[in-house]
Amino acid sequence: MGKISRRVFLRDSLILTSSSFLLSSQYLQALPRASLDGKKAKKYPSYLELEENGVLSQRVEKLYSFYENCHLCPRDCRVDRTKGETGKCNATAKVKVSDAFPHFGEESPLVGKRGSGTIFFSNCGLRCVFCQNYKINIEGEGVEISDDRLADIMIKLQKLGCHNINLVTPSHYVPNIVNALQKAIRNGLRIPLVYNTAPYETLETLQLLDGIVDIYLPDCKFMDPAHAAKYSGETYNYPYYVKIALKEMHRQVGVLQINRKGIAVRGMIIRHLILPNNIAGTDKFIKFVAENFPKNTYLNIMRQYRPEYKAFDYPELSRRIKRSEWVEAIQLARKYGLDRLDK
Ligand code: SF4
Repeated sequence: MGKISRRVFLRDSLILTSSSFLLSSQYLQALPRASLDGKKAKKYPSYLELEENGVLSQRVEKLYSFYENCHLCPRDCRVDRTKGETGKCNATAKVKVSDAFPHFGEESPLVGKRGSGTIFFSNCGLRCVFCQNYKINIEGEGVEISDDRLADIMIKLQKLGCHNINLVTPSHYVPNIVNALQKAIRNGLRIPLVYNTAPYETLETLQLLDGIVDIYLPDCKFMDPAHAAKYSGETYNYPYYVKIALKEMHRQVGVLQINRKGIAVRGMIIRHLILPNNIAGTDKFIKFVAENFPKNTYLNIMRQYRPEYKAFDYPELSRRIKRSEWVEAIQLARKYGLDRLDK
């Protein structure tokens, strides 16, 4: 992994000097200006158009109002986060970030040569017993920062040459993120947002991201409500919301589109983490993707599960994936005609 630093990036993000910036006019020219689907370009990244016509300010205002009786995600906690109250995600209205750096371990269309500008948000509404990032997502490791500071981090990642801003576990901080985005746009942000999510999302919140996010990166976990409830904090409705979320994401951005340099510019990359003993319902998930999305949907079937956090309390989750489980999943995807599998 090509981290330039971990906490150091956050600590130093405000003291980088302009001489250290890699952003060149040549790089700016390489940014895609035209759209996708063969149509004449509007603005790219899409958020520029919303900023220009004043819609982005309305979205910020609307999203911030969600914090007063928080219903940003399907947990629907209805707590007032502006007063410091916390719901299931354990987050207040002040954004908390664990780390930020150019990441070289994501899918190759996101990474390119200069990395994906990844920002890891602390806390999470799901509370999975096998969470691979539990220190950050469950224990809340990180530092509270202002929206201004978050905007600065976005700009710094762009200046380091990153191809996108990759928002990891962003759902419970969407108001801060969109507010910071607007500030960053005014300071020159011109790379697309990657919304890297569980994706336990409401349709209402996703619709407010329409035209803001160019690349959706949903990581889908369960197809069985009983498994979701048992392993992810009573989220029995997880499969229901995930199916709706994927359809909405696809409606907004379509299949993944890549520019001449092999960099993702718009679209959806679907991730699915295989869990031991088919707890993730991999066969049902692949069938769902094949039946509801184009065959050239970009799909990453991941085999890197390792038991973490409380997984050893559940014998069925306390081992890694067998090679045969992964091979079976890949063969099934191919059988359904899905021909754009991540390598
Ligand atoms: S974002 Fe947090 S507080 Fe808001 S509904 Fe979801 S879990 Fe509850």
